[in-house]
Amino acid sequence: MVELIIPSAIYEEIIAHAREGAPEEVCGILSGKGRLATAIYRARNVASDRLMDYVVDDRTLLLQFEFEERGERLLAIYHSHPESPAFPSATDAWRAFYPETAYIICSLAQPGRPVVRAFYLVQTPSRTLAREEVPSDATPLRGNSSLHARYVGDRHSGRYDFYEISPEGQAKWISCQVHESPILIV
Ligand SMILES: [Zn+2]
Repeated sequence: MVELIIPSAIYEEIIAHAREGAPEEVCGILSGKGRLATAIYRARNVASDRLMDYVVDDRTLLLQFEFEERGERLLAIYHSHPESPAFPSATDAWRAFYPETAYIICSLAQPGRPVVRAFYLVQTPSRTLAREEVPSDATPLRGNSSLHARYVGDRHSGRYDFYEISPEGQAKWISCQVHESPILIV
């Protein structure tokens, strides 16, 4: 996967935003041209539980149409993990609706040493399975017994499998490919 090119001022701003918002998760977006980030926009985290989760507010997401008018695009969506590693959670992958946009995660889990990594999260079409086909290592996502998830892979690339279990005893399988994208700071 191609690398992201991020000017150091934007890179530092992601970390500064994450630190200001801790212990809550913060989020925002980057505009870009090709692979180069051109600007950063802080968003409002409108998740109901901002300690555990993030949702970018609609007004910020709508900026992508302005980016397109000026020949740019939504290059990346960033958010912070105040206490967990810089790797997409199952919830992050479940809500990844932009296959061509990078997902940047800034982890503050190691004090004094923020870690920023970027991933592409690409969901694949769903398929219906019988309940018995749901692997036993898939666990309920955030206590939701009708949605199970598991991760297969290493810390750079892999796949989340999601199983939406219906009361009729069927399961809808959706997977999300996870690929790390190197970041080049300029
Ligand atoms: Zn996350």
